[in-house]
Amino acid sequence: MALPRTSLCKLISLRSISVSTLVPAHLSPPTSVASPIRRLNLSASLSTAQDPSPQKTEIRWKPMCLYYTQGKCTKMDDPIHLDRFNHDCSRDLQVNMSELTRLRSQNLDFLLVLDLEGRVEILEFPVLMINAKTMDVEDLFHRFVRPTKMTEQRINEYIEGKYGKFGVDRVWHDTAIPFKEVVQQFEAWLTQHQLWTKEVGGHLTRAAFITCGNWDLKTKVPQQCEVSKLELPPYFMEWINLKDVYLNFYNRRATGMRTMMNELQIPLLGSHHLGIDDTKNIARVLQHMLSDGALMQITARRKPNSSANVEFLFKNRIR
Ligand SMILES: [Zn+2]
Repeated sequence: MALPRTSLCKLISLRSISVSTLVPAHLSPPTSVASPIRRLNLSASLSTAQDPSPQKTEIRWKPMCLYYTQGKCTKMDDPIHLDRFNHDCSRDLQVNMSELTRLRSQNLDFLLVLDLEGRVEILEFPVLMINAKTMDVEDLFHRFVRPTKMTEQRINEYIEGKYGKFGVDRVWHDTAIPFKEVVQQFEAWLTQHQLWTKEVGGHLTRAAFITCGNWDLKTKVPQQCEVSKLELPPYFMEWINLKDVYLNFYNRRATGMRTMMNELQIPLLGSHHLGIDDTKNIARVLQHMLSDGALMQITARRKPNSSANVEFLFKNRIR
């Protein structure tokens, strides 16, 4: 099926960016050593179509095929479709390995970047699996989620308002499934990657969720579980709030994804508030921080037998 995302069909080319250093934090670091912010050569950086540099390799930025990300693309043999839409989730996340001299060893093997969309109910559930040692994208889990407690008319209005402006409302309607099914498929995906099994239960093994803020796993997932009459899955009990790691590592307060991206001079790719694109952009911030030598550690943990009570593990944190 054709995917109408004409509003996104702007041209973005790749060009190399030199390393620059921003003003380091003026406050003294708390427990960990604050690192000056520098710029990483991400292969997918942004320039405008009006700025063609013939001597540089240019790759046109393409929106993801949102049927493909959900395992439902039926046009993989159509060259026009393949030219128009990206079918490689690692395309915007390639890193120049020669720059990774400051990488430190991590206690986790994989980082699962998660950025939910939907205020009333969850509408989109994207998870990017990043290898903590190589920064490679290992896999992507992406589903549009159909609300369970809304009338059809309310859903239509909600989706038009939320996704119509990105031109992806049709693919949403074609693919969205209830949260209960999303959770079942996500668990199968975790098991396939040997990160969790239903039989053993408990936390993720060798992996942790990365979120931008605490809202996704502290507030929204438990709310949606209640609405969908699901028990809160045990792997959602702890996570890494990237903003808290950012604060303690760079000693700079960033209130959101855009602030972190601006400070690290990472160009925004795609559409802000389209979950799949936000997840990729957060992953680009994560890659930058890993390449600067940041250590990813759990920042928040739900107390046992209490879905409401969350313990924050970093003293210095964004509130
Ligand atoms: Zn496709």
